[in-house]
Amino acid sequence: MDQQLDAPLLAFDPTDPVALTQALVRCPSVTPAEGGALSLLAAVLTSAGYSVHRPVFSADGMPDIENLYARIGTEGPVLAIAGHSDVVPVGDAEAWTRDPFGGEIVDGVLYGRGACDMKGGLAAMISAALRFRRDNPQAPGSIAFLITGDEEGPAINGTVKLLAWAQSQGERFDHCLLGEPTNPASMSDMIKIGRRGSLTGKLTVDGKQGHVGYPHLADNPIRGMVRLLAALDATPLDGGTTHFDPSNLEVTTLDVGNPSSNVVPAQAKAVFNIRFNDSWTPETLAAEIERRVREAAGNLVRYELAFQPTNAVAFLTEPGPFVAMVADAVEAETGKRPVLSTTGGTSDARFIKNYCPVVEFGVVGQTMHQIDERVAVADLTALERITHRLLDSYFAPQHKP
Ligand SMILES: [Zn+2]
Repeated sequence: MDQQLDAPLLAFDPTDPVALTQALVRCPSVTPAEGGALSLLAAVLTSAGYSVHRPVFSADGMPDIENLYARIGTEGPVLAIAGHSDVVPVGDAEAWTRDPFGGEIVDGVLYGRGACDMKGGLAAMISAALRFRRDNPQAPGSIAFLITGDEEGPAINGTVKLLAWAQSQGERFDHCLLGEPTNPASMSDMIKIGRRGSLTGKLTVDGKQGHVGYPHLADNPIRGMVRLLAALDATPLDGGTTHFDPSNLEVTTLDVGNPSSNVVPAQAKAVFNIRFNDSWTPETLAAEIERRVREAAGNLVRYELAFQPTNAVAFLTEPGPFVAMVADAVEAETGKRPVLSTTGGTSDARFIKNYCPVVEFGVVGQTMHQIDERVAVADLTALERITHRLLDSYFAPQHKP
């Protein structure tokens, strides 16, 4: 589906990042619901002269998801700004001290689901882009928005398909800024220039059920499981790389499902997740884990090892002029140079990196997905100024990305 809206009248000034964040928070866009969020952004961007498209993507057994692509300008360079308009569920609504979809401001803090992840970041970047083009109508190049409604859900009908769709329309991007909340505590803390990969493995050890008083008639699988898990933990996977921490394996569950104290269980199961750096691919890492388990098991332990398919590979946007430009903008507005980091979970940047270099920067993420999610009004206005400054440098006539 593709729809073009006529420029409607808005009840607020969309170059005000606080008003735009409030309006967005008031749209209950819990994945997969559009909740009015993309319609609002379509109206905002259409009014500002963007051409707006709203492709809907489908997959078997999944809800249809609405997405938005918008662009102003016809020439290069093309700076893409990416984000998601969906939010995670409210959780225990009674535990909230403010309406999770109210966008209420109390003592300089804006409350609501998505305030920091990431309606606030999205709003601040849109406001900045609108103000930049309003003040520089002759600015060279193009600004494009890639906004998905499926980041917090299965992420099947979101950014992956939106990027492919844009490419099929002939769209190309020189760089991308993704507005996820990257800052741990203050707006000058952290830019993300890559992300670790994620690999989940499932280990099953078979034994033989029996009476604990007659262990020679049974075979306890817990003994073998402990041996295998110890082998996985014995040696670090690596020592880290230039821009990445060491890869880390965490056992996330360990089960035998045995309620009785006088029975040797028949089977033990464990699941582990590895957050890995750029010295591995999912394939080389799986091979290393298989080798460790095989050697530890020898002929003694009967086991099965399986890995879940993953689309989360480790990637890095090498620090260069674009990364420096983002860091310069942050430093100019906050007085402090942000750290370049690859920490944290995965994000849609792992899909965008297949199309162009991508850097992530957004508001302070301390309360994301929590009860009473909130963002400081001052952080929204700071992000608007930082983004505006970045656009100034990016589209400066002397700059050729
Ligand atoms: Zn997010």
